[in-house]
Amino acid sequence: MSTALETPGLSEIQRQIVELARDFARTKIEPFAAEWDRTKHFARDVIDELGKLGFLGMVTPEEYGGLGLDTLTYLLALEEIAAADASIAVSLSIHNAIPTTMLLRHGSSEQKERWLKPMARGELLAGFALSEPDAGSDAAALQAQAARDGGAAGGGGGWVLRGTKAWATNGGTADLMMIMARTDTPAARRGAKGISTFIVPTNTPSYRAGKPEDKMGLRASNTAAVVLDDLRLPAEHLLGEEGMGFVYAMEGLDAGRLGIAVQAVGIARRALEHSVAYCGERRQFGQALRQFEGVQFKLADMATRVEAARALAHVAASRKDRGENVTQIASMAKLFASETAMWVTTQAVQLFGGYGYMRDFPVEKLFRDAKVTEIYEGTSEIQRIVVARGLYPGA
Ligand SMILES: Cc1cc2nc3c(=O)[nH]c(=O)nc-3n(C[C@H](O)[C@H](O)[C@H](O)COP(=O)(O)OP(=O)(O)OC[C@H]3O[C@@H](n4cnc5c(N)ncnc54)[C@H](O)[C@@H]3O)c2cc1C
Repeated sequence: MSTALETPGLSEIQRQIVELARDFARTKIEPFAAEWDRTKHFARDVIDELGKLGFLGMVTPEEYGGLGLDTLTYLLALEEIAAADASIAVSLSIHNAIPTTMLLRHGSSEQKERWLKPMARGELLAGFALSEPDAGSDAAALQAQAARDGGAAGGGGGWVLRGTKAWATNGGTADLMMIMARTDTPAARRGAKGISTFIVPTNTPSYRAGKPEDKMGLRASNTAAVVLDDLRLPAEHLLGEEGMGFVYAMEGLDAGRLGIAVQAVGIARRALEHSVAYCGERRQFGQALRQFEGVQFKLADMATRVEAARALAHVAASRKDRGENVTQIASMAKLFASETAMWVTTQAVQLFGGYGYMRDFPVEKLFRDAKVTEIYEGTSEIQRIVVARGLYPGA
């Protein structure tokens, strides 16, 4: 059974980063994760500590205060965090992948100075709000509206945002949200081309996060609706070009889906590790469970799928680092890894029998945490649509 550290050909620096992530995860996250899950505790102090170590700027170039790691090293470190607690991992994944990618690619030098650098140093935690109550898979149908501020309230060329975003990770705990809103008018809708991205500090008056959602899994992660009630922003909070926000969001999601893929690998790997240990100890019919061929076959399939899911994510990472378009392979990696996590954790609960169904044992949390990887950043059905679309590139 291999972990991220056994990945062949790791350089010394990659090994050091992964070891740092693994040691932190094992000592400062995993021992507390069940309690955070029970109490829905968002461990901001732990995220801040990770931020000080550079984990909120893993792929941000050094010139902007980040560690400047390649995607593979970032994914290896994230797997270690996810194996300890998927709730912490999702905060890191979204911050490093989506707002960071958007600012790096499309931020002005002032925006990079003001927002990207403190994000990379771990001083600001960022999130991303695309989904709305009536626009999830069909995100381009979002309705939040941004209108030019005529200056009546002293805005003078700024923006006024109005609408409701749904299920934003870190919506109630981030310092900064990248918010997608329409900049076309109700009279002349332009579909995806009518959406723009806004950089919204969460201490802006009229930014209101709803109460944390009461979720099946990832209970220690903050997920909240965000209400924009005539929220006023200066002009320089528009990211990049007006009308390009949907494109920026999709670029961010290409990176984000790799993070979710290894989040799923981390969950699945931990379920496998627990299962291997348990089946070595638990005895029925006079022998350890692992001696039954039926159990061996189950463990073999679990291990094979975990390796395959990790390998696919790593291939996608290498292609991203070579500058290739990874839309299709990122969807493949996220699809395969999330379904692997759900399948492996289901087998793990089964192998633990009645104990698997109890909160006192670790696999039921992994099972609950796995499910959302098939839903967020595009459901499995949406990933299949993206993969199939890539098979007919000219169509
Ligand atoms: C814990 C959590 C955290 C989240 N964090 C964020 C966040 O940080 N930022 C953010 O913007 N969003 C976030 N989301 C929202 C998430 O991305 C959406 O829930 C997801 O995209 C699905 O949208 P929906 O829930 O509206 O489902 P729907 O789009 O209503 O889909 C319902 C079902 O219909 C299926 N379906 C829809 N369209 C098709 C189709 N064309 N073909 C086949 N089947 C289809 C779907 O696959 C699904 O099974 C989060 C969600 C959760 C649960």
